[in-house]
Amino acid sequence: MREISVQQNQTDSGVSAIVRAAPGEFAPAARSGSPRWRAAAVAGLYSLSACLASSAAVAQGIPLIRDAETENLLKDYSRPIFRVAGLGSHITMRIVKADNFNAFVVDGNNVFINHGTILQAKTPNEVIGVIAHETGHITGGHMAQLRAQIARDQTKALLLMVLGIGAAVAGGATGSSDAGTAGTGLALGGQEMLMRSFLSQRRSQESSADQAGIKFLEATHQSGRGMLDVFEGFAQQEYVSATYQDAYMLSHPVAADRVARLRELVAKSPYVTVKDPPELQLRHDLVRAKISAYLEAPQTVLNRYPANDNSLPARYARAIVHNCSGKCDQAIGEVDALIREKPDNPYFWEIKGDFHYWAGKQREAIGPMRKALQLAGGNEPLMQVELAQALLGTEDKAVLEETITLLRRAASNDPGNSTAFNLLGTALARKGEEPQAEAAIAQGRFAEGNIKEAQIFAKRAIKHLPTGSPEWLRADDIIKYKQSSE
Ligand SMILES: [Zn+2]
Repeated sequence: MREISVQQNQTDSGVSAIVRAAPGEFAPAARSGSPRWRAAAVAGLYSLSACLASSAAVAQGIPLIRDAETENLLKDYSRPIFRVAGLGSHITMRIVKADNFNAFVVDGNNVFINHGTILQAKTPNEVIGVIAHETGHITGGHMAQLRAQIARDQTKALLLMVLGIGAAVAGGATGSSDAGTAGTGLALGGQEMLMRSFLSQRRSQESSADQAGIKFLEATHQSGRGMLDVFEGFAQQEYVSATYQDAYMLSHPVAADRVARLRELVAKSPYVTVKDPPELQLRHDLVRAKISAYLEAPQTVLNRYPANDNSLPARYARAIVHNCSGKCDQAIGEVDALIREKPDNPYFWEIKGDFHYWAGKQREAIGPMRKALQLAGGNEPLMQVELAQALLGTEDKAVLEETITLLRRAASNDPGNSTAFNLLGTALARKGEEPQAEAAIAQGRFAEGNIKEAQIFAKRAIKHLPTGSPEWLRADDIIKYKQSSE
């Protein structure tokens, strides 16, 4: 789960439209002792319209978390909603490393959600409600209006403010563990008037996003209760001093009449009393435990999940807090106990492999990681990268081909995953295929948003690659890529 990567969009040419990030901008590991969870700085929000190229530059640096378990849960939450909204399957849920409550869309391709949102949501239904509401913003075309106005006003920083993510970026850049908590205070500043005009426009969009969201929930036979709970919570917050308000509240103003209307809509639904399936609730609780264990202070985690709590999520959290930086045998024992209870849970096997890997025992990591990948269906890119990394770590020539195959698959499933490309470069170089290695590294740099270095590697690679081969074409795309102007 650990690796950083920067997402990019494949356009027809196979090259992303806008991908920019300063090298070295990646946030450091969440905290020492848990190197597995790193935030990835998103290089650029590539699919913004050309007029917003500069906003993409502003948005770069949003620290993202990559984790197969969390991503797959969010996929399962969002897939039915996106389907009934007619949005197809191209939208990606992205997890922002920020501990306040926030979710936002900037285009029709990504829904961003803070890890704090998942941590705070007691039920899947609350998160699903937020996703349904955000989807309402997408289908309502609200982002296009927002982008157009921002382009007119030439105030690119405003985008981040409106979305309430300015602080997340600021926090991510310094690796602060409480990224984003300072939220709204900084939003106003000298641009108060502009901000207010934005927010008044935004208010009218909120009700329409609510209505669309409720429609999507009904069409998927789910309750609107969770969504209502979230916004009612924010309505209460409006009475509190502005400094305690969550970013989400600022970007999704909750007027009393709006909540009243939402309450009516929710109550009218035949599905108002529908509860999340227990299996989904358990997955939600496990993910919350994991997020807490990796991102919160150990003592906070142990208070949240005290030793007398024998539930699976509590034991999961404690095992992760213990991990192999301390008493490895104990941590592995705790994971083994989880595996005995749920032998088909790929993520329990994954952390077992992870514990070994980070304790420097690559060989021991391989078995559990293989098992995790197999249980996850064989094609989970983050797990493919983890297994490949452990295989590479053994420096065993016999597994080189397997490593390369895994990394090629991971890179093709998850083209924004720079780690997959960079490791592929290492593996190919070890095999003696230098031009192919350079081509892979070019793609890795490109995915990181480091266009300059990407082009240097691509130019070196293309001289020795067979003309017209897939690698040659990709290197050629990178060489021809023109960076959008700042
Ligand atoms: Zn909204």
